[in-house]
Amino acid sequence: MGIIEKLRLDNKKAFVTGGARGIGYNITLALAEAGADVAIVDMDESTAKTSAEEIAKQTGKKIIAVKADVTKKADVDAMIDSVLKAFGRIDVAFCNAGIALNVPAEEMTLEDWNKVININLTGVFLTAQAAGKVMIKQGGGSIINTASMSAHIVNVPQPQCSYNASKAGVIQLTKSLAVEWALKNVRVNSISPGYIGTDLIMNSPLLKPLIEKWCAQSPLHRLGKPEELQAIAVYLAGDASAFTTGSDFGIDGAFTCI
Ligand code: NAD
Repeated sequence: MGIIEKLRLDNKKAFVTGGARGIGYNITLALAEAGADVAIVDMDESTAKTSAEEIAKQTGKKIIAVKADVTKKADVDAMIDSVLKAFGRIDVAFCNAGIALNVPAEEMTLEDWNKVININLTGVFLTAQAAGKVMIKQGGGSIINTASMSAHIVNVPQPQCSYNASKAGVIQLTKSLAVEWALKNVRVNSISPGYIGTDLIMNSPLLKPLIEKWCAQSPLHRLGKPEELQAIAVYLAGDASAFTTGSDFGIDGAFTCI
């Protein structure tokens, strides 16, 4: 089989958390364009439904919307049941839902801290654990977690210690699961995007004014586009990456080089 054929995801069944918009939307679109049926898993049910309809129309694949809060184990378990009911199996789990909170460390309440850790780290664990159980039974699968360049550097000037800590946790969780599940044929990798122009940044009154500063700091002098994460998603999801597990892929326009 040639490499382009190996990159195809025909007959694969996937889900993407936080898939209603932004990076997750673009990843869902990419997996579907490569041939997979995909479930968009999101707290925001109405946007998830609209996005699923759009992507189904564009790609001709089966795209469903499943409402779930990744911090709630009961929601995650029910989501897995819905995906299995619709698709029969789960080959690809993209654990991507995440939020950022910008609060100086000395002012951060325990509630603020827990909110970010619960979604960004515990949510990834609950989702990967539930998908991993299915994949182990099936004989294999690929789990991809969205970390961040913030796992590797401390962004400035905005204060975001809980976000940075949560994303560093995602990378070490990814490596731990990759080692535990290596012989069960379940691969686990992460991606670490740099600044990407999604709602997370564009709709934040605090972050939007900082874009100029970040672009000045960045060797490429621009934000990334969500579609610039699509190729790595397709690579990691499918058989082309059979020897790739426990790795983190930085896609940040060389931001972390300086
Ligand atoms: P976004 O805010 O545009 O989209 C996030 C999606 O996740 C939304 O649809 C939201 O409804 C959903 N979501 C939030 N909490 C949820 C929960 N508890 N359960 C289920 N769904 C939930 O964000 P984005 O920019 O697309 O970011 C996606 C991921 O990429 C996040 O993990 C983020 O930390 C990471 N990331 C983003 C950037 C960036 O610059 N945008 C950079 C590096 C990493």
